[in-house]
Amino acid sequence: MLEGRNIHKKYGNLEVLKGISIRVNPAEIVSIVGSSGAGKSTLLHILGTLDKADSGEVFLDKTELTRLDTQALSVIRNEKTGFVFQFHNLMAELTAEENICLPAWIGKRDRQETRERAAELMKILNISHRSGHLPSEMSGGEQQRVAVARALINNPRYVFADEPSGNLDTQNAGELHELFFTLRDNYGCSFVIVTHNLALAERSDRIVELKDGKIV
Ligand code: ADP
Repeated sequence: MLEGRNIHKKYGNLEVLKGISIRVNPAEIVSIVGSSGAGKSTLLHILGTLDKADSGEVFLDKTELTRLDTQALSVIRNEKTGFVFQFHNLMAELTAEENICLPAWIGKRDRQETRERAAELMKILNISHRSGHLPSEMSGGEQQRVAVARALINNPRYVFADEPSGNLDTQNAGELHELFFTLRDNYGCSFVIVTHNLALAERSDRIVELKDGKIV
C-alpha cells in the first residue's frame, strides 16, 4: 500500500499542500482532480518520490520513504514505481524497444527476460511494428504508448501518471485508459493519475479532489 500522511509543502510563501493524507491500495486506480494550480502535480511528485515534502511521511509497502537516502530511493523508484508524463521525454536517439528497456537495463535485470517483457508490452500496446523506430518516426499516440511501456517494464506496483492523455486525441486517450484498467486487472498495478479527463476520473476506483491545499 502507498500512503501519504499529513503532507505539507510550500514554495516560498505559497502553501501548496496543507496536510494531505491519502492511501492507495494494491490494484486500485485513484484519480487526482482539481483546478489548475491546486497542487495535484506537487502531490503526485511527492508520493512518487520525485519531490520532497516539507513535513509529513510517505510509506510504500511499509517502508518510510521520507527516511531513505538518495541511493536507496532510486532503487525503490526503479523497482516499484513507474511514471507516465504528458510530455513523454523519450530518448531521441534510442529506438522504441531501447527506450522501453532502459529502466530494466539500469536496474541490471536479465536482458532476455527484459526483451520478452518489452515484446509483450508492445503487443498489448499495439506498437510491435514500431519496435525498431526512433521517437521522431512515430506519432504522438505511439510515443505516448512507448512511454507507458517504459513505465511498466520493471513490473511496478505503483504507476504515477500526470495528465497521461493530455496530448492524445479522444480515441488514443480512450485506448490508453482502457490499458490502465487492463494492467490493473492483469498485473495488479495501482495507478495514481492526475487528470482533467472526466471520463477517466469517473471510471477510476476513487476520485480525490484537491482544493486550497486540502482534500475535499
Ligand atoms: P496542479 O498540478 O494542480 O496544476 P501544481 O502542483 O503544478 O498544481 O502547482 C501548485 C502551485 O505550486 C502552483 O501555484 C504552482 O505555480 C506552484 N509551484 C509548483 N511547482 C513549483 C516550483 N518548483 N517552484 C515554485 N512554485 C511552484
